[in-house]
Amino acid sequence: MTVSRLQGIPPTIFTTMSALAARTGSVNLGQGFPDVDGPPEVIAEAVAALQGGANQYAPGPGVPALRQAVAEHQRRHYGLAWDPDTEVVVTTGATEAIAASILGLVEPGDEVVVLEPYYDSYVAMLQMAGAVRRPVTLRAPDFRLDLDELRAAVTPRTRFVLLNSPHNPTGTVLSPDELRGVAAVAIEHDLTVITDEVYEHLTYGVEHTPVATLPGMAGRTLTISSIGKSYSFTGWKVGWATGPAALVGALLSAKQWLTFTSGAPLQPAAAYALTSAADYPKELAASLQARRDLLLTGLADAGLPARTPDGTYFAISDITHLGWEDATAFCLALPERAGVVAIPVQGFYADHPDAGRQLVRWTFCKRPEVLTEAVERLSAARLAR
Ligand SMILES: *Cc1c(COP(=O)(O)O)cnc(C)c1O
Repeated sequence: MTVSRLQGIPPTIFTTMSALAARTGSVNLGQGFPDVDGPPEVIAEAVAALQGGANQYAPGPGVPALRQAVAEHQRRHYGLAWDPDTEVVVTTGATEAIAASILGLVEPGDEVVVLEPYYDSYVAMLQMAGAVRRPVTLRAPDFRLDLDELRAAVTPRTRFVLLNSPHNPTGTVLSPDELRGVAAVAIEHDLTVITDEVYEHLTYGVEHTPVATLPGMAGRTLTISSIGKSYSFTGWKVGWATGPAALVGALLSAKQWLTFTSGAPLQPAAAYALTSAADYPKELAASLQARRDLLLTGLADAGLPARTPDGTYFAISDITHLGWEDATAFCLALPERAGVVAIPVQGFYADHPDAGRQLVRWTFCKRPEVLTEAVERLSAARLAR
């Protein structure tokens, strides 16, 4: 029954793996959501907003307090000055910002350069928009951006770069050199950059640089983020985009027909988080770095060494040495063998599945005792095929 423009998009692996986790009583290091909520005082603000009457439609572009808080956040952290009235828009999570920016900006047949492996919604939205993917593949073991490959991906029909840094699932944080390369290509070919920076605060020993801060880039970049990852409220689905009024306006013209307006009582609470709980993301990053190291040590001890990611919730192991045909077979067997669920990275490499064939993604955004239990189970299990 499904329309052709939605066909060929692989179904999300998370449904299968989370069901498997529940059925086998496994420790779920698959889907990336924290098992501890964000700051209680931010939750209290949401409760107060619900009880205080913020229960009818919010303004389409977002409540003024949140648009101001987002503009102030971009100024304080990155020195980017956006007008909260015309250059900031609130969305239903980063997911809607991605969808609405693609639907509002990308014409059928436009080529979009995009980093592979892909966050799954990019593939679906580009296909719905009739766009043509031009992959630039991040490959194991380093998952760095190859600037020659980037340049080679651009043709006269290319109009956009869809960027994601810090990058899910590889944990790569694009370096200043890599970003300069992206900026040079964008400027030379007059490309617009749509950049997903939901992990902007979750970096470990390196700094995230928004591509919009590079010379010549603010005027051609739409930057997307959200409350979910920075504040451990992935269920809130409050996101935003910032950039020149023409780009924000294009996003808004699609957004108004998707959701029109986003959750009213959560917006003042998100504004409160950005202004009055501004230190939380840094504390979260420190805690995640310790949990990353706990997981990496445990994985190495279990014979599953993973590369050290510079950002995000995720680490990736290469399982070639264990003799499995691919990571999907390994991940399907892992709950029975070890009582642990992980995600095969194969599916994120839609254009070059071989590049992800033997890769497994683990999340470390869980409590230390959960990670310890997982790696103890892995150590005790027989993992070789
Ligand atoms: C989690 C995630 C999103 C979705 O963000 P929401 O605000 O929950 O919609 C978008 N992009 C990437 C790379 C993510 O990991």
